[in-house]
Amino acid sequence: DLDSTTAPLPSVSKSNNGHRWSDITSYATKKKVQYWFQLPNGNWELGTLMSTSGTESVISLPAGKVLKVNLDSLIPANPDILDGVDDLMQLSYLNEPSVLFNLQYRYNQDMIYTKAGPVLVAINPFKKVPLYDNDYIEAYKNKSIESPHVYAIADTAIREMTRDEVNQSIIISGESGAGKTETAKIAMQYLAVLGGGSGIEYEILKTNPILEAFGNAKTLRNDNSSRFGKLIEIHFSETGKISGAKIQTWANIKFGFVLHMAVLLEKVILQHLVPPEWSNVQREKDLTIYFINCVLVLLVLSEAKKLNLKDVDEYKYLKQSNCYSITRVDDAEQFHIVKEALDVVHVSKEDQESVFAMLAGVLWLGNVSFTMIDNENHVAAAEDESLINVAKLIGCDIADLSLTLSTRKMRVGNDHIVQKLTLSQAIETRDALAKSIYACLFEWLAEQINKSLAVGKRLTGRSISILDIYGFESFDRNSFEQFCINYANERLQQHFNRHLFKLEQEEYIQDGIDWTKVDFDDNQDCLHLFEKKPLGLLSLLNEESTFPNGTDYTFANKLKQHLNLNPCFKGEREKAFTVSHFAGEVTYDTTGFLEKNRDFLHLDSIQLLSSSSCQLPQVFASSMVNQSEKPVVGPLHKAGGADSQKLSVATKFKGQLFQLMQRLESTTPHFIRCIKPNNFQSPGSYEQGLVLQQLRCCGVLEVVRISRSGFPTRISHQKFARRYGFLLVENAAAQDPLSVSVAILHQFNILPEMYQVGYTKLFFRTGQIGVLEDTRNNT
Ligand code: ATP
Ligand code: MG
Repeated sequence: DLDSTTAPLPSVSKSNNGHRWSDITSYATKKKVQYWFQLPNGNWELGTLMSTSGTESVISLPAGKVLKVNLDSLIPANPDILDGVDDLMQLSYLNEPSVLFNLQYRYNQDMIYTKAGPVLVAINPFKKVPLYDNDYIEAYKNKSIESPHVYAIADTAIREMTRDEVNQSIIISGESGAGKTETAKIAMQYLAVLGGGSGIEYEILKTNPILEAFGNAKTLRNDNSSRFGKLIEIHFSETGKISGAKIQTWANIKFGFVLHMAVLLEKVILQHLVPPEWSNVQREKDLTIYFINCVLVLLVLSEAKKLNLKDVDEYKYLKQSNCYSITRVDDAEQFHIVKEALDVVHVSKEDQESVFAMLAGVLWLGNVSFTMIDNENHVAAAEDESLINVAKLIGCDIADLSLTLSTRKMRVGNDHIVQKLTLSQAIETRDALAKSIYACLFEWLAEQINKSLAVGKRLTGRSISILDIYGFESFDRNSFEQFCINYANERLQQHFNRHLFKLEQEEYIQDGIDWTKVDFDDNQDCLHLFEKKPLGLLSLLNEESTFPNGTDYTFANKLKQHLNLNPCFKGEREKAFTVSHFAGEVTYDTTGFLEKNRDFLHLDSIQLLSSSSCQLPQVFASSMVNQSEKPVVGPLHKAGGADSQKLSVATKFKGQLFQLMQRLESTTPHFIRCIKPNNFQSPGSYEQGLVLQQLRCCGVLEVVRISRSGFPTRISHQKFARRYGFLLVENAAAQDPLSVSVAILHQFNILPEMYQVGYTKLFFRTGQIGVLEDTRNNT
């Protein structure tokens, strides 16, 4: 029975597994076997082989077209009977066009979920599909339905949590707009129904509209794009009821992106930058524009009278967005949902008002303008209603605010001096303050939610974590944000690889199973490139960020100087460099890297907040101080001196990523890969090239091949004997677990090629345990 493990693997590549064409074609032409043929536009078309001579063949395509093509360009197609199988592992030919076709076949019938071995593939329908009502939940709960679904994944997680007494995680990834957040909500909904009863599940579901209102924005890729990553850990009691939850968010990266945009635009207008810069800005603008979620704007507006707010289009931070007009009726409805949700998670009315005041403060801050006071380009904040309102809303003195925005205290030797700021420095200071307040507000809200979900509850039981995190990004122009995001994805990919491939192989080998090693792409080299100290991307970035004279140019040059021998790295012209990621090469433009990484907020600004007569700004100020390292001398051109340097953004990000990985390591993972079938958010359109690229990025094809050729189900002799021993006709109580196990296998006629017996465990091919479970459950 060892042969089954070494049998040739189904073809993933274009080759036909070493079969000789002459053998195949005589059979194929007789049987009218179908092949995939790639059209010049990249799409695949199904053709029937008519005849062959030498390396040439004649195929007929639909619509009566007949083509003469090279044999090597044909890829075998699966028989009709396999059209639309719900697990890609069932396909006889596992080549790319067959996988694409199978997914498309299902997608066209609203079957958006398909298994790829252990991974669930979800294709965004961009419309309501009838897959989520209570009947479905009941059906998955009772196992009366088996088709792939998020519910099935959530159900497995609950079951394995209880059975194995191990925490579980559901890891959802995919590009922007692929459906991660929706999928996470669908999983939460299932868990809430199955583990409901205490009422806490209601609170947990209500966290979604809050975090979305504050943390999502409209982009060209997704009308409701998450600007933060999220891990929600849902805890269960021994009786399987939800007992509480904990949320962790990663917001700094993409918030920075959005606000940076606002800053850039303004700089361009003010400083009349040269055209090339302008076009860069335009491109960045194409990626992400909108500052604050529409819902949030409504939220603030509703409080307008109390907060001295004007019409939305009066605010510069909002002007750059087109989303403030109420285009969707449900925005207004959504706004009530958010307010209600804040009540549900016990944010007091008083705190809610503070939150709105802070938001209004941020909006007004964007309107603060400056006037020239000398001919050295120094400025003072204009004492108009914007400045007065900001001071009032964040509870500080107008004069203090004005000084903070237009001057900087510095220490020179033992003396303190006050330096006047230029226009661009003042604008930078103002926007950095706005951004920090906004980011603190989001973190503060997440904290309040956590208090509400955890206080007085027991979070000691088992948990299921759901991770909704931005996927791999590769644009025409990639910046610091993509750099961080892709680094995180590199780590997650390693987790995925480790779990699915490495552990699998090691386990076979450890247990004495004959297993011909399957190669997989290990991305350790790329991770080294990022993390190596002192000569890795992150270390070099941090080092350059603290250098007084460091610029994006000097940073790029350092990378080229130290990393050019690394196979995953390539220096590019000017300030760019390329990294070979698991999902492909990405070229990063270092423009703005240092500034974004420093994420500078001057001590003056922090002091301003701590002088506030309101509670929230004080809380924010102290959290900013806590995040700081010991004061160091800031970069000279930033006119540093007395400033305390915060942890760099990259360092903070890396720390959070490591924490996340540690938490995930102790769980049994379940993977969901979301796929975006088109770039227009429109239903019914399936672009093969776009889908294929995403399938490659997340390693779905490779997973199918490996899982299929192995023994994905394994169970210890003891457990197996305990679980199924009672089914034995002959009493086996006195025998050892191995003998009992073997007796069970024989009694149920499990075919020898379907399992292997290891030193400590039994290994099964997919689907085998199902038979035994059915018998067990019906006995
Ligand atoms: P981002 O990374 O930008 O946050 P995302 O992967 O989280 O993107 P979602 O916001 O979950 O993407 O989905 C984008 C849109 O796609 C949703 O607003 C919704 O309209 C649609 N969508 C996603 N999944 C489904 C689904 N299962 N059924 C119906 N519509 C869906
Ligand atoms: Mg999202």
